[in-house]
Amino acid sequence: MTSIVVLGSTNMDLVAYVAKAPARGETVTGREFRTVPGGKGANQAVAAARAGADVSMIGAVGADEFGSRLRAALEHSGVDTDLLRTSEGPSGTAHIVVDDEGGNAIVVVPGANATVTSLDHGDEALIATADALLLQLELPLSAVTAGAVTARGLGVRTVLTPAPAQPLPNELLAATDLLVPNEHEAATLTGLADPHAAAEALLRKVPEVVVTLGAAGSLYAARGAKPLVVPAPRVRAVDTTAAGDTFVGALAVALGEGRPVPQALAWASAAAALSVQRPGASSSMPYRTEIDTAFDPTHARRDDRDDR
Ligand code: ATP
Repeated sequence: MTSIVVLGSTNMDLVAYVAKAPARGETVTGREFRTVPGGKGANQAVAAARAGADVSMIGAVGADEFGSRLRAALEHSGVDTDLLRTSEGPSGTAHIVVDDEGGNAIVVVPGANATVTSLDHGDEALIATADALLLQLELPLSAVTAGAVTARGLGVRTVLTPAPAQPLPNELLAATDLLVPNEHEAATLTGLADPHAAAEALLRKVPEVVVTLGAAGSLYAARGAKPLVVPAPRVRAVDTTAAGDTFVGALAVALGEGRPVPQALAWASAAAALSVQRPGASSSMPYRTEIDTAFDPTHARRDDRDDR
């Protein structure tokens, strides 16, 4: 079984559903409110576990009611939490507004996540056993960089989701095997709005890039290879929260199983498309059998821009 370690955040998602998100200074009445276990790290861990991997989570929850729920939710999805610390103070929270078109706006308050500033020996020993280490930017950069550098030194594939978007230290980029930004993050990192141009620019820093394009699918680029565009299945999106995390978790599992890149991308797209059709973050993530059923192996094609 593919073995994945996630070094990342746990947040309780506090989700308000509204017809239209409020503008600055405006108050709107929401339709519904839910508390849902989330955080980009925990979401990717749950996505990978449900997609069929053996997953362990390194990070921290707070010493509060949210912390117990966050840990229990991970364990419920089969994620090992032995190295998930419990720190003093509150758990991380994410305040999310979801509108009727399935779009979202998010404020993250790090809480316990901010206490994870470095790795210890136990973390390193665990990373050494993994096929891949999944990283995002909701932990302090010092810990993310230490994780990537450690994994790289051990020959473990590093997969970085650069969210929330921010400038990345060269040390982190140099230890990243696969970078998976969404369109907005790719533009922030490169200053280039066109995802193809952004992916090309990012290849100067990392060997492989996948830019996720929302309902338009995903774009894969690797040094020395022609780019590949994988369309997303056409579905009715009700809540795109954690679509990207579902995609990354499933992609890491498929690549860890040795599937060819086009097939791995199509499989991850099937997983993400299932998640956007249901409300919630980790609660919306599909299990392996559902992904296999929805998977369409013909959903991978070469980028034909150069052939026009
Ligand atoms: P989020 O922040 O909402 O988790 P993201 O911005 O990180 O998502 P997106 O590029 O929006 O990432 O989506 C990730 C992947 O999810 C896409 O590459 C696509 O495969 C799938 N996806 C997203 N939206 C849709 C949609 N409306 N229909 C089908 N698939 C979708």
